[in-house]
Amino acid sequence: MGNKVVVKIKLTKRQEEILQIVKKEGPIPGKEIAEKLSLTRATLRPDLAILTMAGSLEARPRVGYYLSPEKTIKMKAAKYSSKLVNDFKALPIVISKSTSVYDAIVQLFLEDVGTLYAVDDEGNLAGVISRKDLIRAAIGNKNLNDLPVNVIMTRMPNIVTISPEETLLEAANKLINNHIDSLPVVREKESMPTTYELIGRVTKTTITSAFLELFE
Ligand code: ADP
Repeated sequence: MGNKVVVKIKLTKRQEEILQIVKKEGPIPGKEIAEKLSLTRATLRPDLAILTMAGSLEARPRVGYYLSPEKTIKMKAAKYSSKLVNDFKALPIVISKSTSVYDAIVQLFLEDVGTLYAVDDEGNLAGVISRKDLIRAAIGNKNLNDLPVNVIMTRMPNIVTISPEETLLEAANKLINNHIDSLPVVREKESMPTTYELIGRVTKTTITSAFLELFE
């Protein structure tokens, strides 16, 4: 079991600039990178050596420098993970908190989702109902028509939420750290703090689709 030692080096501003040039124009000869930065080839040589040793750049004789596949995916991943929840959120499937567990199960199948959100009479987020919540209720109760989801749902203040201005990386972290499949995207009401308007949902599928887009 070999432990890989990862040494992270902080890049200088010039090295970052080189990466950006190579990303945009690679494969590009060292001479041309130097010209773009108004530097001599000799001045640039140590930076190119460092970036090549660090595995960010690769070079081919007579062709020039290009980003290594690993660096390419890391740069794309950094760009993607900083994208905003607002641009990736899906529509939430919403039921009233007085809906019966029976009807909630029907909704889950009709809408083909894994999680439903319950709202109160004012339309504010009141609860989260997952598959397991419904299964648990179904094996423990005889009359699912008379049991409102209000009794079985995870409710405020225990709901983990995300705002549209947070990033996909923050969404992924919340999903993993809280062992949940979905996050309600909410906006806190200015007039009523700790009251949330439900505007969307982010699920593990959202994150997986964004991950796949990296490879397109
Ligand atoms: P499943 O029940 O299908 O495994 P989850 O893993 O998302 O789905 O749900 C597990 C538990 O966590 C359920 O009791 C559910 O109510 C609760 N839960 C789901 N999403 C959230 C959330 N965003 N915040 C707080 N609790 C949640």
